[in-house]
Amino acid sequence: MDLWQAVTAHILPSSIWGSLIAAVPLFCAFATLSQMATLRKYGLTLRKSLGQHILADDNIAEKIIAGLDIQDDEGVIEIGPGLGALTHRLAALARRVVAVEIDERLASVLKAETSDAQATSILRQNILKVDFGQIVKSYPDVARWKVVGNLPYYITSAILMHLVESREHFSIAVITVQEEFARRLVTGPGTKDYSSLSIYVQYHFHPEILFVIKPTSFFPRPDVRSAVVRLSGLERSPLDVRDEGLFFQTIRATFGQRRKTLRRSLRQIPGLTPENMGELGRMSGVGLNNRPEDISIQEFASLANAIKDIVG
Ligand code: SAM
Repeated sequence: MDLWQAVTAHILPSSIWGSLIAAVPLFCAFATLSQMATLRKYGLTLRKSLGQHILADDNIAEKIIAGLDIQDDEGVIEIGPGLGALTHRLAALARRVVAVEIDERLASVLKAETSDAQATSILRQNILKVDFGQIVKSYPDVARWKVVGNLPYYITSAILMHLVESREHFSIAVITVQEEFARRLVTGPGTKDYSSLSIYVQYHFHPEILFVIKPTSFFPRPDVRSAVVRLSGLERSPLDVRDEGLFFQTIRATFGQRRKTLRRSLRQIPGLTPENMGELGRMSGVGLNNRPEDISIQEFASLANAIKDIVG
């Protein structure tokens, strides 16, 4: 049995508790102990395969909640509430909290430990299968919805895609992800972190890193630092993109071969040939000898619009 299982199981010898508690920084000791007590009470072990690192730092929990700026007529959808490090605080502020937890054991413990059951619904479901529109429709008394989650890192990208697809149903999302992943979301051209993901997210949201979290704020400690990112929905993209499908096809074609120049990678798009590259360069104003990591979102928009004019 590894430490992961041992410390979260009720079989942990009491002699180890002393040294374990000493290892936890003082500011988060209380949060850690109360969640440990819950684990012990129900005889639970945390599951690494489900990305179960519980937040054990009250200050960080407060800062995440502050990033949501919850009003009393608003609702919050929480992704992966675990043992409720954020859920109880949300319930005190929002009109309605819908917490979606895949692990049946944690979902039932959270239900049992939730005192304000009126305002909180705990759904035992996979967040990727949850229809946000359905939740919104079920609570007509909620003026606006926000999303929060200390995400399970094994499906961060899939959850992000789901948030993009569900964006019309919420105004902002505050998510905790690996720091490296967070940097990819907010970065611009000219950096190694810039990717098709950066563009995809920035096309739909205004992403910003609110703060970084050290591994010691979680239990068990993850290997890497985390960052809290706020995604604010854009009413409509400020870009003038005439064909969104072609815009994203252009981005995929170029980042799919990110070491090649645009002149070479764009030939994958039907209708583009070595012969019409000169025209494409002139019409778009984009240097086709560049690589995709040097091209801004605005330039990708010009490129896609010019491709549309050329290939129809
Ligand atoms: N919110 C809690 C906290 O901050 O202490 C737990 C965060 S933990 C990093 C991620 C949580 O997401 C776990 O409770 C895990 O069981 C849950 N989870 C994992 N995959 C999920 C999925 N597909 N849908 C919903 N919840 C999931």
